[in-house]
Amino acid sequence: MTAHEFLGFAYRFAAKLTPTADGHLLWTGSQNGNGYGQIWLGDGMVLAHRVAWVLAHGRDPNAGLDLDHTCRQRNCVNPDCLAEISHAENVLIGTGPSALNAAKLLCDRGHLLAGDNLLVLPRGDRVCIKCDEFRNRRTRARRKLARLEAAYFAGSA
Ligand SMILES: [Zn+2]
Ligand SMILES: [Zn+2]
Repeated sequence: MTAHEFLGFAYRFAAKLTPTADGHLLWTGSQNGNGYGQIWLGDGMVLAHRVAWVLAHGRDPNAGLDLDHTCRQRNCVNPDCLAEISHAENVLIGTGPSALNAAKLLCDRGHLLAGDNLLVLPRGDRVCIKCDEFRNRRTRARRKLARLEAAYFAGSA
């Protein structure tokens, strides 16, 4: 995702928010079948409240945790109304997450998992292209160093 594409996304996101007098931030954009706000990002739909959480906290919700609307309004995306709770708690409360809910928006190093930085493997794993390229570059650099060292010691023997 280019800076320009991200800016376009940020504008689209902000344009669909309506603050209420009592402190909520309601989503006026499209909603999924469960009443959660959703927005197109790169190559698929992401949950609006999840985007708001990531923007507010700079990270995905911790692994294995769902986001709960403490205000019980599914179309509210105020980060202050969102809390990380365990999946079991979420099921008990009765706001079971969709598969979409579990999709990470950021890789472990904080890159946006969308558009041309996202590779979805056949079994559904979401791979960060930037990190993947970094890992490959590092592996290549290590191999090159090993070759140079081998050549050096071979030459000096
Ligand atoms: Zn709220
Ligand atoms: Zn990454």
